[in-house]
Amino acid sequence: MYEKELETAAEIVFDVCGLTRRVQEAIVAAGDAVTKGDRSPVTLADLAAQAIVSRHLGDQFVDDPLLAEEDSDALASSDDMAARVLAEVRSHFPMMTHDAMVTALDRGDHRGGDEGRYWVLDPIDGTKGFLRGDQYAVALALVDGGQPVVGVLGCPNLPSPADHGSSDTGWLFGATRGGGAWCRVIGREDRRAVEVDDVTDPARAVVCESVVAAHAAHSVQGRIADRLGISAEPYRIDSQCKYAVVARGEASIYLRLPRDVSYREKVWDHAAGALIVEEAGGRVTDLNGDPLDFSSGRLLGNHRGIVCTNGAIHDRVLDAARAEMDR
Ligand code: AMP
Ligand code: MG
Repeated sequence: MYEKELETAAEIVFDVCGLTRRVQEAIVAAGDAVTKGDRSPVTLADLAAQAIVSRHLGDQFVDDPLLAEEDSDALASSDDMAARVLAEVRSHFPMMTHDAMVTALDRGDHRGGDEGRYWVLDPIDGTKGFLRGDQYAVALALVDGGQPVVGVLGCPNLPSPADHGSSDTGWLFGATRGGGAWCRVIGREDRRAVEVDDVTDPARAVVCESVVAAHAAHSVQGRIADRLGISAEPYRIDSQCKYAVVARGEASIYLRLPRDVSYREKVWDHAAGALIVEEAGGRVTDLNGDPLDFSSGRLLGNHRGIVCTNGAIHDRVLDAARAEMDR
């Protein structure tokens, strides 16, 4: 099921990765000319990517609403932002007008919930990594009946796994519920199955976590790793690339324990990645072991922390995490 949706979503994400790569290369080339704190390059890429994905989806699946991170308000962030975004969008849709672009952006205002189906988009997940010239992801999912059923992650800077024997950079991941997960080099056709690793001794696990310290409590996560006897350094990587590396067996654990206890996670930050991990044989829950609730709106259900593993060691990771949190 959902094969057509997956194929189409993968094509759309592939298309938009061309744009995000172009903009990120310009940021890197500009070097110090992009001053710290200037978010306009990422705003440009975010908005253009959302408008393009929205337009493609609107053309292909006319009845499906869209729940996406951005809206047209951000067009006003600087004087010429609207014109710059429109120029980027026109390189994909030459006939696009300003008004049509605003409509495409603001189609992303769906409220979510547990009824019917809707697409979920994070046009650039990991904006801090994007600006740093590092890892980020384009994340697109289809939610049906409150559950992700299709997930696509474009990871334009992700290196190849060691056993691929190539220096190709940039991978695209896809999954349908019940249909397994695959990945391919962005722009290539040949697919590889995506499977979690077979680590059963938690001490042998690699933990991945956010680069940005505000997004997850590094010190708490470090103590959980200590409790599990883990000696490997954490693998810090921005965005839902963390789900991708667990899915592909390059890490066994992804921990996301909040620093700010009042923070509610966003649906678009997890829908695609969590499905890809589950279809690769892994597990994704909150700290209580409950599955993530995608059905309660634009925010995830009221979860405490997110624990994602290869499945085999999940319960032991939960035990260690709870023991540390309840200390
Ligand atoms: P990461 O790249 O995994 O560190 O996370 C990127 C995502 O973290 C962004 O898409 C934000 O939506 C989300 N985020 C923003 N603030 C917080 C916070 N205080 N705690 C957890 N996640 C956050
Ligand atoms: Mg995000």
